[in-house]
Amino acid sequence: MKFDINKIRSQFPILHQQVNGKPLVYFDNAATSQKPQVVIDAEVKYYNEINANIHRGVHHLSQVATDAYEESRIKIQKHINAKNSFEVLFTSGTTFGINLVANGFGQILKAGDEVIVSHLEHHSNIVPWQFACERSGATLKVIPMLQDGSLDMEAYQNLLTKNTKIVAVNHISNALGVVNPVKFIIEKAHQVGAAVLIDGAQATPHLKPDVQDLDCDFYVFSGHKIGGPTGTGILYGKEVWLNKLPPYQGGGEMIKEVTFEKTTYACLPHKFEAGTPNIAGGIVLGVAIDYLNEVGFDNIAAYEQELLDYGMQQLSKLEGIEFYGTTAEKASVISFNFKGIHPYDVGAIIDKLGIAVRTGHHCAQPIMNYFDIPGTIRASFAFYNTKEEIDAMIEALKKAQMMLQ
Ligand SMILES: *Cc1c(COP(=O)(O)O)cnc(C)c1O
Repeated sequence: MKFDINKIRSQFPILHQQVNGKPLVYFDNAATSQKPQVVIDAEVKYYNEINANIHRGVHHLSQVATDAYEESRIKIQKHINAKNSFEVLFTSGTTFGINLVANGFGQILKAGDEVIVSHLEHHSNIVPWQFACERSGATLKVIPMLQDGSLDMEAYQNLLTKNTKIVAVNHISNALGVVNPVKFIIEKAHQVGAAVLIDGAQATPHLKPDVQDLDCDFYVFSGHKIGGPTGTGILYGKEVWLNKLPPYQGGGEMIKEVTFEKTTYACLPHKFEAGTPNIAGGIVLGVAIDYLNEVGFDNIAAYEQELLDYGMQQLSKLEGIEFYGTTAEKASVISFNFKGIHPYDVGAIIDKLGIAVRTGHHCAQPIMNYFDIPGTIRASFAFYNTKEEIDAMIEALKKAQMMLQ
């Protein structure tokens, strides 16, 4: 498909509205993405035509719903290049996926074992590991961050020991947009026999991950950040690890046989999918992934790079601006502040002008502590944004600066 920005924008109904009397400029894509019409239609179609519980009934609709759900799993398997479809688990999002894995490790780890996360993590890739360490007596170690927002790879290699059992890092930072050298991180971890979980929540909107090429042991992401419904997500896990980990939740669908003496678990992926899942969401997530592939990840990457370059160029002209996360390889996320001005004040003023950005710590307080700031203003661009919208943000920021200085 040729990249036609006008056509793409016409497919996102929410973008064509006014906020506070101004055209909406939505630059909070790292928090959640907007949904194309095909996704909205698929959600409606599911409830109009397909709705039934899956796997349980022999009746027609149950079969249709089950088939659609399992087809979506296979679609996602292909999208991330997983070896087997049963290695692709439906979850409610990144947070759930990480908790599932960390909870399992909490039961496997022993005192003396070590878990490594990075300074650049979202809270949802820190707190579950703290739980796991508290529960097991394992030690949590942290890969330090450098001034430009990159991770210190030399320090990382020194942290790895034969006691390291799992390394959990993000593919792309949500707070700074920095792309991490995950392939290198995975390779080094495997050399000491540690597993690796990659938090792909910020990567999947911009690129197509290849889990076999990365050779990661777990890869997690959220549906709502890639044009899919809220409350959807994927946990990819290598077969050997999913077999090793204990189940997370008990209930229907995840068992083979239940007696009061002993329960045996269902095979993968059902072992980790207790209860009635978000059936509509799982099916529609497949539709969202189809849509992104139709737009094309090469097109998305090239266009977003243009927006990033243009945004950096225009923002750099503003007085007193300070950027956070200045590595060469970045996703279309710009984190910044103005000297002496609180990010919340800027965010509140530009919201009055129709500009939606995120202000705050972005669920990554250790990063803010490192830079000794209360938070940042974060503008995150998607492939349906435009340079004209960046211009509108720049004008709004100038007004905010004038009012706040
Ligand atoms: C958004 C995000 C999360 C949390 O995702 P949820 O959808 O809220 O579960 C975790 N890590 C990163 C890097 C994120 O961007």
